[in-house]
Amino acid sequence: MSELPQGSVIGILGGGQLGRMLSVAASRLGYRTHIYEPGAAPAGDVAHVVTTAPYEDEAALRAFAESVDVITYEFENVPTAALDLLESLRPIRPNRRALAVSQDRLTEKDFLTGIGLTTAPYRNVETEAELPAALAALGAPAILKTRRMGYDGKGQIRFGDKDQRDWTGAPSVLEGFVKFSAEVSVIVARGVDGQVSAFDPGLNVHREGILRTTTVPCGLSQALLTDAVLLAAKIVNALDYVGVMGVELFVTPKGLIVNEIAPRVHNSGHWTQAGCAVDQFEQHIRAVAGLPLGDGQRYADVEMENLIGDDVLRVPELLKQPRTQVHLYGKGAHRPGRKMGHINRLL
Ligand code: AMP
Repeated sequence: MSELPQGSVIGILGGGQLGRMLSVAASRLGYRTHIYEPGAAPAGDVAHVVTTAPYEDEAALRAFAESVDVITYEFENVPTAALDLLESLRPIRPNRRALAVSQDRLTEKDFLTGIGLTTAPYRNVETEAELPAALAALGAPAILKTRRMGYDGKGQIRFGDKDQRDWTGAPSVLEGFVKFSAEVSVIVARGVDGQVSAFDPGLNVHREGILRTTTVPCGLSQALLTDAVLLAAKIVNALDYVGVMGVELFVTPKGLIVNEIAPRVHNSGHWTQAGCAVDQFEQHIRAVAGLPLGDGQRYADVEMENLIGDDVLRVPELLKQPRTQVHLYGKGAHRPGRKMGHINRLL
């Protein structure tokens, strides 16, 4: 496929806030979007069509695919059978390999180390019986993570000493604890023609396993900034990737360690809405539509802060602040841990 003509329809799997912001970007570029989402869909407010159906509904998947020109996603845990069906009808961007690699922490780490990048030391722990040997090999402290479906620190157990016993209940990976000085992430994009464009790495601060703030510039040395961008480019090239990817990194005295990759637009890239001419959402739409990528240059210093749970009650005050963009996701009631919106503050 060359450039997607104006008026084409981009199908998006997942109807959360990322799908919502992708839809807005697509519409600005003259495209329409069709959201496929089993549950409530904040993206539905700004999309042209919404299908509400489970990923097991073959007729709904088929009708969705046949109504769109290309399929992308804001959620990487779409079941394999659904993807097989969709892919037989329309191109999926980013490709299936990127999804397969990032859906499973073991496959992801094997891939990353296979292309010469550094991850935390790790062991496959298929069953509880394999845990003692893995803990003995890696030592403590260590973190056990389910191989699949983990996010925002869910499905993780920390082991303070090697005799501690606990189990996630599912095939897992044990990771040695990385003594990092900072967490940064690179949002990188790759176009259909192989062009690569990266945004400046951002400094991430988490609380209770959830991203709170991302700040640019991130304070890394120029040498480490270059390393971060080069390794992100290496990942997207190796996967023949098309779209935006989030690459989360630990900064250590020995250099950068890859924590995980997300084959989609990423919460730590929301700052680009205020810091760049073309933000991560437009960049992703440009990539999957076969358009030239925007430049990733940063024109402002920005702090992105997530509005989580009752943070959203601060919105009336935030709206009065200068140099502040408020983004709300149109979700109903706030609950602890629920991402309700974010702000981008120009520094
Ligand atoms: P994850 O879901 O893998 O991104 O992990 C959530 C958070 O736990 C990360 O952002 C880190 O703050 C921390 N973490 C994860 N893995 C490690 C590790 N191997 N060593 C130290 N901290 C970690």
